[in-house]
Amino acid sequence: MELFVPDLKKAGGRFLDYHGEIEIKDPEIKVPPGPNGKFPVLKVFLKAAYVNNRILIKGNWQTELTGECSRCLEQTDYTLKESFSEEFIHLQAGESGRVPYAGSEHEEQYLFKGESLRLDEYFKHSFFISQPLKILCREDCKGLCPICGQDRNKSLCSCTDENIDQRWSLLKKLLK
Ligand SMILES: [Zn+2]
Ligand SMILES: [Zn+2]
Repeated sequence: MELFVPDLKKAGGRFLDYHGEIEIKDPEIKVPPGPNGKFPVLKVFLKAAYVNNRILIKGNWQTELTGECSRCLEQTDYTLKESFSEEFIHLQAGESGRVPYAGSEHEEQYLFKGESLRLDEYFKHSFFISQPLKILCREDCKGLCPICGQDRNKSLCSCTDENIDQRWSLLKKLLK
């Protein structure tokens, strides 16, 4: 996904709409699979404007993924979404790539040179840091019985809940 500076300059500071798709492929990092074992594709919607030698972007992306439910261990498809708002400083001819306000809150500003801004790496990074700690097939997944292993979404077993929960948490403490 690429934004062209001349287009944005022509808009004179107004926000323009963009839509792009970015396939997440990385030979060095294990990528969570999309449905059907394909690489996930981020669908990106953003607005961008060129103001004071910066490109401002804001919007959101979403993608479909497949993984194992943390509670019942069934394979499940789920949607991952994230919103973002960022600015990229456009270095002018003769300016170095040095971070301009080192030590301030702006320390981690993004810089770019030339007449276009490529956003693929930015969104790949956003994708990897947005991975959920837990995948759930649905919000109220009942999970597996810790005693007999029965999938409680399918049918209830005869183990009684209260005692189990206590014993289970005790066991978890011991294992730590
Ligand atoms: Zn589940
Ligand atoms: Zn049980």
